[in-house]
Amino acid sequence: MRARLARRLQDVPPTIFTTMSALALRTGSVNLGQGFPDRDGPPGLLAAAEEALRSGRNQYAPGPGVPELREAVARHQARRYGIELDPDRQVLVTAGATEAIAAAVLALVDPGDEVVVTEPYYDSYVATIAMAGGVRRPVPLRRTDTGFRLDVEALRAAVTDRTAVVLLNTPHNPTGAVLTEEELRAVAEVAVRHDVVVVVDEVYEHLLYDGREHVPLATLPGMADRTVSISSAGKTFSVTGWKVGWVTGSPELVEVVMAAKQWLTFTNAAPLQPAVAHALDHEMAHVEELARRLQERRDLLCAGLRELGLDPVVPEGTYFTLSDVGHLGWKDSVAFCEALPERAGVVAIPAQVFYDDPDESGGTHLVRWAFCKERSTVEEALERLGKADLTA
Ligand SMILES: *Cc1c(COP(=O)(O)O)cnc(C)c1O
Repeated sequence: MRARLARRLQDVPPTIFTTMSALALRTGSVNLGQGFPDRDGPPGLLAAAEEALRSGRNQYAPGPGVPELREAVARHQARRYGIELDPDRQVLVTAGATEAIAAAVLALVDPGDEVVVTEPYYDSYVATIAMAGGVRRPVPLRRTDTGFRLDVEALRAAVTDRTAVVLLNTPHNPTGAVLTEEELRAVAEVAVRHDVVVVVDEVYEHLLYDGREHVPLATLPGMADRTVSISSAGKTFSVTGWKVGWVTGSPELVEVVMAAKQWLTFTNAAPLQPAVAHALDHEMAHVEELARRLQERRDLLCAGLRELGLDPVVPEGTYFTLSDVGHLGWKDSVAFCEALPERAGVVAIPAQVFYDDPDESGGTHLVRWAFCKERSTVEEALERLGKADLTA
């Protein structure tokens, strides 16, 4: 028989990362596409996971997550941000931030409801909103002299009585923007005025540069009870394959998200959960060191791209920098990224695919480069780019 994809998924293209990582392998390219580190997280974290595997932690974990991880997340939020949480009612462990986002959107959005989402977006948001039957209303981050900034006017115009959820991400992938307190205050004002829930993806909360500090949206006035905060071990501890994430929020919101989450995976990664609990309590010095090393790689990559005329925007956080290739004559960033493996033996991601309307929002010629790699990997990529003809 012929397999027909359900209508709600027909407009969702396959994830760009599958395509580009396969292309990197096939062409022997240096992969600055997909955002995963080429060095694993802290040895203490890996040892804790090994210990858990060998000591019988291999059956289903409780649906909301193992108590020691929920308690460690609550301690982390209190210590770091002054957010007090009841680990039994206000913390929910998920299969990565990806499941947390899916559960939140599926639980909070009815078919036809609008979801206001920052653009360029993380690609799973689009698929998740489509699966919930929601309608996306993108609000752009635009390039300015001070990096990418939230278009606050567009946000105010986009949120209406039809909005079920505002879906936000800071530090922001792929622009590298860290929303300022002023931008966060604008989000909070709009959310309170229209009485909507904000789902905020904070997976890069520890990967900020130049002395910046992450400000959780939940700490802004009026936001504690209307924010679903999401984070994950993947980026913080350089274990992107583990897929251990968590949701925090008011007991009511966490209960609502749980109603969807219990029917997605129910539970996952039983032996990894206690290891992540250990890391949140004992491995944060490693994370600080990671951020320091990432900043150094950021500077290396941005300086190299600038020298090659690739016009990067220096990111404030995350694994990524965006650069504009418009002036090299390319019609768009997809054309550039498709040619790049043959031309230079390097893979990057065309960021235009993270926009609904890239022309309107200035995303047509943007290319995303990952610097969460060893110094030698970044140097090799720059050397290859330096030898190649990068004009269209
Ligand atoms: C990597 C990433 C995720 C996915 O996190 P997992 O814990 O691996 O599911 C979610 N959001 C953003 C913005 C990311 O960059």
